[in-house]
Amino acid sequence: MSKTIAVIRGDGIGPEIMNATLRVLDELKVGLQYEFVEAGMAAQEHVGELLPSATLESIARHRVALKGPLTTPIGGGFSSLNVELRKRFDLYANVRPAITVPGTKARYEGIDLITVRENTEGAYGSDGQVLSEDGDMALSQIKVTRRGSERIVRYAFDLARRQGRKKVTVVHKANIMKTTSGLFLKVAREVAAQYPEIQCQEMIVDNTCMQLVMNPHQFDVIVTTNLFGDIISDLCAGLVGGLGLAPGANIGTEAAIFEAVHGSAPDIAGKGIANPCALLLAACQMLGHLGLEPQAERVRNAIRDVVGRKDRVTPDLGGTGNTDSFADALIDSLRADG
Ligand code: NAD
Repeated sequence: MSKTIAVIRGDGIGPEIMNATLRVLDELKVGLQYEFVEAGMAAQEHVGELLPSATLESIARHRVALKGPLTTPIGGGFSSLNVELRKRFDLYANVRPAITVPGTKARYEGIDLITVRENTEGAYGSDGQVLSEDGDMALSQIKVTRRGSERIVRYAFDLARRQGRKKVTVVHKANIMKTTSGLFLKVAREVAAQYPEIQCQEMIVDNTCMQLVMNPHQFDVIVTTNLFGDIISDLCAGLVGGLGLAPGANIGTEAAIFEAVHGSAPDIAGKGIANPCALLLAACQMLGHLGLEPQAERVRNAIRDVVGRKDRVTPDLGGTGNTDSFADALIDSLRADG
């Protein structure tokens, strides 16, 4: 197979973790080619634009992008480059796996769950408005549509089916938000009925937060609206050891962008100690998206293998190594695995 993907190295620690990630991906020898394009501060410096049209064209052409974190300059014209990319490509599904990596400071062992968050509507659809002159009254709206709900719930059930997962939990607040969350739940029930082999559980969002903290192992795939998904996916990242291990995918019908959840970490940029795992786990999601799930699992196994042995991993995981030694160790592990 030969497949070209758009690669945005990103700002801050972006280039360091991207280089490490691509070195590991190259070791898989699956014929991936890279078209390097720019966005964020790097693009601003080189071409005077935060999101150049060449970058958008590259993503549109290759339909798959691996993206390092971007620094959005304050007052730069966009509220967030990531939100802008999401809008441009209608990336409606934000998919965030939370997987325990043994040897990390996590509260639980054996967690393997995925949050599927609706990415385009809900409480984040509009900026809202200030209603009074003194600025003391503000109003925002929540938009839920049948189309938006149907496609995200269908995405979650298809993902469960593809990965042989047994249960999808629909998270809502339909008891109070009867119209918006009520519509989401109604549509979710209709979609769930088309997947009889997958158990559909309904859970109110506040209870979900408590259940996640008390017994996360009961969850498999969670699907929910934008705001609830934003909060729940960070809660799940916290359960498995935090930002350094949290990947995310933004999926649409025309394109998919894979990235680490964390930002450009300016405090450690250039020091060579950034943890490449979150971006690498995002690359694993990308491999799965490209039909290369066995290779993705090889990389995840290498991460589990290397993180357990602390010496070569980065300081945030309790190691004494750096970004390069981490990548070297992962490559050694892949070679040993054959
Ligand atoms: P951050 O995620 O960059 O950093 C938070 C803390 O986590 C810092 O102490 C940092 O050193 C540490 N950290 C993050 N990633 C790490 C890694 N891979 N290895 C080791 N330590 C790591 O959050 P921030 O400081 O609030 O944001 C910095 C910039 O990143 C801002 O400009 C923000 O807009 C941007 N940002 C971008 C994205 C994205 O592109 N997806 C996401 C979040 C923030």
